Amino acid sequence: MPDTLTTKYRGVYVDGAWREMEPSERSFHTENPYSGEKVLHVHPAGVEEVELAVKAAKRAFGEWRSVSHEERVEYLLRLKAALEHRKEDLANAITLEMGKIASEALVEAGACVAKIDVTIRDAYDRVRDVHPPGLTGGFYTYRPHGVMAVVGPYNFPIHLANGHIIAALMMGNTVVFKPSSVTPLVAQIYTECIEQADFPPGVFNLLPMTRQAGDRLAGHPDVRGILFTGSWGVGLHFKRLTLEDPHKILALEMGGKNAVIVADDAHLEQVVAEVVTGAFLTTGQRCTGTARVICTPRLRDPLIEALARGAESLKSGDPNSEDTFMGPLASRSAFNSFRKEVEGADRDDSFKSLVAFREGDGVCGVGACLHLVERYDPHHPYIREEVFGPALTVEPVEDLDKAFQRAQETDYGLSFSIFSQSEDIFQRALREVPSGIVNWNRATNGASGRLPFGGVGKSGNHRPAALFAPEYCSYPVASLSKPYGEYSKNPSPGFPQEVWK
Ligand code: NAD
Repeated sequence: MPDTLTTKYRGVYVDGAWREMEPSERSFHTENPYSGEKVLHVHPAGVEEVELAVKAAKRAFGEWRSVSHEERVEYLLRLKAALEHRKEDLANAITLEMGKIASEALVEAGACVAKIDVTIRDAYDRVRDVHPPGLTGGFYTYRPHGVMAVVGPYNFPIHLANGHIIAALMMGNTVVFKPSSVTPLVAQIYTECIEQADFPPGVFNLLPMTRQAGDRLAGHPDVRGILFTGSWGVGLHFKRLTLEDPHKILALEMGGKNAVIVADDAHLEQVVAEVVTGAFLTTGQRCTGTARVICTPRLRDPLIEALARGAESLKSGDPNSEDTFMGPLASRSAFNSFRKEVEGADRDDSFKSLVAFREGDGVCGVGACLHLVERYDPHHPYIREEVFGPALTVEPVEDLDKAFQRAQETDYGLSFSIFSQSEDIFQRALREVPSGIVNWNRATNGASGRLPFGGVGKSGNHRPAALFAPEYCSYPVASLSKPYGEYSKNPSPGFPQEVWK
C-alpha cells in the first residue's frame, strides 16, 4: 500500500462535518482484489443518517440556489485545485480498492480535474438564458431541481459520480452521494477535496450506506433526482422505486453489450488494435467495452487468429506493475460471477472456446477470454447479457446486411463501432444501429467529455451525461412579461369595459 495514503474510515460527511459511525452488524471491510489485504473497515450509514443528510441538503439548497453562477464557479475551481493536489491519492485508492492498473487510475483521477472546466463551460453554453429571436417579452432560463442523489458504480468509482456531482452543484442543486460499497476510500478522499474547497455545509454529503438506506434515499420525498450509474438491474430497481414520483429526475447510465461490425474493407491491424483495447482494457470492466465482434467473410480467419493471440498474451497481474495490461477484477463477487459465465460458455457447444477461462495473477485476477459463436441464438444469455469482464465473442456472418441485422439484435444500446473505409457504411451505421455512441474505425470505449454520453434500450433512459449533464440537472422556466404599466384595454370580446371606470 502506498505510504502516503491513510486508510482510516472517517464515517459519513453530513452538513459540512464528518460523523464517526459505530461498528454494527452492517459493518464490512473492503479488500484489495490483487493482494487480498483489507483496505477500509466501513460502518455504513443506515436510514437515520439518510434522513439527516437529506435534511441538511434540503436546507442548504435554499441558499445554494441563490448563489450566483460566478460564485459557484469559484467553489468549483477550488475543488479543482484540491482534486489536482490529491490526484495521486485518488489514483492510489482506485488501484487499491478495485484493482485498476496504476496508469489508468491516474487518468481517471486526472479526468475528475479536467471535468470541472468542461462543466463550467458547458453550463454557460447550454443552459444560459435563451431569448428566442422574434419573441418580444419572452425568454427561458434554467433552475435547479433541489436535492440530488448520486449513486456511483465501482468501475469508474469517482470519474462518473464526479460528472454528475459537478453538473448538479454547478446548476445550484445540492447532493447526497452514495458511492459503491467496493470503493468507499476513493469517495472519502474525494469528499476531503470537497471539504477543502469549503462548500457551504449541506451542499455536498457523503454516505457510504446499506442498500436499505439507498432505497430510502431514492424514495425520499425531498430528493428531487437520482443520478445513477450502474447495472441495468439496479437501474430498473430505482425506476420501480420512483414509479409514484414521476416528477423525480431519473438519469440512468446503465450497462452495455457493445458490438463492432468488421466490414470486408476494414483495416485488419487497426481492427485488432482497437478491438483488443476495446474488449480488455480495464479488465473488460467498462460499460462501453467491446463484447461482440460481428465479422464479414474477408477478414474472418486472420482476425480470429490475431484476436486469439492478443487475448492469450495480454498480461494480467499486479496493477502497480508497469507491464501489466489487466489488473484483477474488482472484487471476489465480480470474479465469481465472471468465472461462472465464462466457464458456462466454455462448456456450451454453441461456442468454440478459443481462449477459455483462466485465473490470472492475484486474488481476483483473470485472463482475457475469446469465444467463436458456432450456433447463433440471439436469446442466448452469453450473447444477450452483459458479462462484466474481459470476455469477447466473434460472430462470423455472410455479408454486411446480416451484420447490421445482428448488431440490432440487442437489448442494450450504449456504444457501437463500425470498421470500414467507406463513409457510406459509417452513415448506414449512424442511421440503423440504435446506440448512444456510434464510432468509426475506433474502439467502442474511450468517450469524450465534450460530447453527450448515454445509451438507449437497457443502457439508459435518454438523459445522456457528459456534455448534457447540466440539462438534466436543471429544468427550463419559461417567462413572458410586459413593460411596466402596459396593458390592452380591449383584451378579448366581451371583456367588461366597466372595469376601467
Ligand atoms: P451496480 O448496479 O451493482 O451498483 C451501482 C451502484 O448501485 C452501487 O453504488 C451499488 O452499491 C448501488 N446499489 C446496488 N443495489 C442497490 C440498492 N438496492 N439500493 C441502492 N443502491 C444500490 O453496478 P456496479 O457493479 O457497481 O458497476 C458495474 C455496472 O455499471 C455495469 O453494468 C456497467 O456497465 C455499469 N456502468 C455503466 C456506465 C454508463 O455510463 N452507462 C458506466 C459505468 C458502469
